[in-house]
Amino acid sequence: MSVQKLLTFVQDITRLLETRPSEEKILVEGRKLVATLVSSDEWLPDAFARPHPEHYQQYLLYADPLDRLSIVSFVWGPGQKTPVHDHLTWGIVGGLRGKEQEITFQQQPDGSYRETGRGILEAGQVTAVSPVIGDVHEVSNALSDRPSISIHVYGKNIGQVRRHVIDPKTGAEKSFISGYANEVVPNLWSQVAA
Ligand code: FE
Repeated sequence: MSVQKLLTFVQDITRLLETRPSEEKILVEGRKLVATLVSSDEWLPDAFARPHPEHYQQYLLYADPLDRLSIVSFVWGPGQKTPVHDHLTWGIVGGLRGKEQEITFQQQPDGSYRETGRGILEAGQVTAVSPVIGDVHEVSNALSDRPSISIHVYGKNIGQVRRHVIDPKTGAEKSFISGYANEVVPNLWSQVAA
């Protein structure tokens, strides 16, 4: 099992962000990089693919020292889902294993949120969120008999961002900081000198 593919992705996305691109360009070029990353799944170490029996997991895979990006493995057990939430930064999501359902929401003039779409993210597919293109959604495992995993790349250290869980009926927001489930991150350099 080689994490070389993840290291290559970190290098490529860092090079992209070094050029200080517009969000539009990040979402176009970054999507291509994420598509390459999730075109195969053997690179993700098992420790970052483990579901929790009660709730979905967010494992930090890499964080930029200047908080320009973070890469997170999301693992949903059967039947697990997120609350409706926002991100407050751009995010690119690639399906790695299984299948996820995304329901998107948009705020209405009265403050409530209306469902604007439903989509399925299959392994190998890529989608995106941001305050510009639509930032509020709910994600769930579309499979009832096994875990689903997706790889998320954000424009900040997402585990430390104070953001919101939203009640779509009233628009009421509750602030939260997601943190990360893991205390150690993958050793991206372990195989380089082999
Ligand atoms: Fe999300």
